Amino acid sequence: MAIKQYAVIGLGRFGTSVARRLYEAGQEVLGIDANEEKVEDAELFVTHAVVADATETKALRAIGISNFDCVIVAIGNDMQSSILTVSLLKELGVKKVIAKALGKRHGQVLEKVGADWIIYPERDMGERVANQLLSPNMLNYIELSKEHSIEEIMIPLKMAEKSLRDLDIRAQYNVSVIAIVREGDIIISPSPDRIIHKEDLLVMIGKKEDIAKFANIGQ
Ligand code: ADP
Repeated sequence: MAIKQYAVIGLGRFGTSVARRLYEAGQEVLGIDANEEKVEDAELFVTHAVVADATETKALRAIGISNFDCVIVAIGNDMQSSILTVSLLKELGVKKVIAKALGKRHGQVLEKVGADWIIYPERDMGERVANQLLSPNMLNYIELSKEHSIEEIMIPLKMAEKSLRDLDIRAQYNVSVIAIVREGDIIISPSPDRIIHKEDLLVMIGKKEDIAKFANIGQ
């Protein structure tokens, strides 16, 4: 994976976890916060950390913010600062600005001032938890659109020891098996002759409702 330069503005819980994960994955991460203590705490898990008020154009320029590939605005409760920061970043020519929204209205304004991707952590996490509860056989979940997703499903016992061709999942359930997770390994694009074992997980792509039907056919 190519190394990119990220800046994370606001080192609260959300910003910290984004920054830490990117840094662990070998990316270059600059942490920015107006609070000196937050910056000191972050020094262990970012490439650099600086104290700056992101609502000041001068401070952003001094950092050279327009050279970053992607800037994440993780300012929490101060909605006005988050909106002003996103708008300044776009004015300064930052290509990709990702911003965290507290709610729908906040998100709409962030979109107006040019945010390229808006994240609603509470809403998204809530949906994720509900989805997990609704499908006990569902382990991992990636939302592709409102209707479609990729999900990791435990196979119903009665389907074990049969081949994908025999199971005819695509025709029966309108979903495709794109991979099989077997003992920690992953078999990509399994051939129709592959026999499914009872401990296997199927990685499926399709409409959420179709995948849910498959996941709930019972053991
Ligand atoms: P979370 O809910 O993710 O913990 P917080 O609201 O606790 O979010 O944290 C947001 C962080 O953003 C705080 O550390 C705060 O100091 C920082 N912050 C707020 N306004 C600015 C600003 N204008 N410039 C830089 N950092 C800011």
